[in-house]
Amino acid sequence: MRRVFVNGYGVIGRRVADAIARQTDMELIGIGKTKADYKARLAAVKGYRIYVPSEKEAQAFSSLGIEVAGLTADAVRASDVTIDATPDGVGAKNLSLYRELGKPAIFQGGEEADVGEVSFVAECNYDQARGRRYVRVVSCNTTGLCRVINALVKGIGLGSARVVIARRAADPEEVSKGPINAIVLDPVEVPSHHADDVRTVIKGFDIVTMAMKVPNTQVHIHSFIGRVSGQSITRDQVIEALASSRRILLLESKVGFKSTASLIELAREAGRPRGDLYEVVVWRDSISVSGNEVMFFMGVHQEAIVVPENVDAVRALVTDVPYRESASRTDASLGIPLKL
Ligand code: NAD
Repeated sequence: MRRVFVNGYGVIGRRVADAIARQTDMELIGIGKTKADYKARLAAVKGYRIYVPSEKEAQAFSSLGIEVAGLTADAVRASDVTIDATPDGVGAKNLSLYRELGKPAIFQGGEEADVGEVSFVAECNYDQARGRRYVRVVSCNTTGLCRVINALVKGIGLGSARVVIARRAADPEEVSKGPINAIVLDPVEVPSHHADDVRTVIKGFDIVTMAMKVPNTQVHIHSFIGRVSGQSITRDQVIEALASSRRILLLESKVGFKSTASLIELAREAGRPRGDLYEVVVWRDSISVSGNEVMFFMGVHQEAIVVPENVDAVRALVTDVPYRESASRTDASLGIPLKL
């Protein structure tokens, strides 16, 4: 039984904490939280122990009648590994605490790559993360891209990719973020940072990305164009490569999947917690092949896609469980693949 502390209980931390609590080989020591709010109350109702950075926060929680189990440092000390899901840049600041206490930690994609020894996507490089002290699970878009590129490199010998990313502007709760009536080129410069981020996992891969923000809170959409060097490929080969790889879901418009909304509705109807889609979605009927080029649309549910990666990262860092076994356990606990 490995003891896991989830520090930061926001969009990602809440989902990861629930996923850790479902693992039969892990114990959730508790969650780290700074704000005394209804989410802290709900965490307490679930039976999660709440840890706070300092006595100041402890007093704020106590004044609202929310029980605090101790300070963040106590929870890190009591754990085999911490999953840091604090906002961009805070994880890097927390690194010194984890180092000081001699404990391994898993960071998220909002941190710079150098926060960890390895940038992690389970299907791509689980073995490189085994036994490491500090690992970064890459961002949602990078996770989706790496899963798909890895499948196509192995399945059809993909040599390069050019991808245009329509990014959801904000998560559903972020009421102060926009735009609400424009498409914002973000960044205007090409390539966007996603290309470099993919290369932190799939070293040296030839990829260019362009990105824009669209007025939407659910799911990023990628327009993907890939190329194999030399030989022609068939559509069936592409489908086979994607279908046989883990955590990729092929969906078809003829049964109603025509927008981001239908993806979230699918997850809700299927009974997934919070309407989460852990898989990267590829529209099967968008897959088109011309000579040595392949094109398709794919979707990334930003709030959920990195959840299975965080669970596998725990096993990579602090257990001897090999990848296939870890991924099977993680997927079984989360209901992956979604049955349709
Ligand atoms: P969030 O703002 O929803 O959650 C972060 C939580 O950490 C908040 O509840 C905040 O109050 C809390 N916090 C702040 N300082 C803290 C501290 N010192 N100790 C404990 N808790 C603290 O952020 P998020 O969207 O969950 O993002 C977390 C990380 O995951 C970031 O690196 C982000 O880039 C990455 N990520 C986010 C998404 C997404 O779409 N939201 C997707 C993939 C990866």
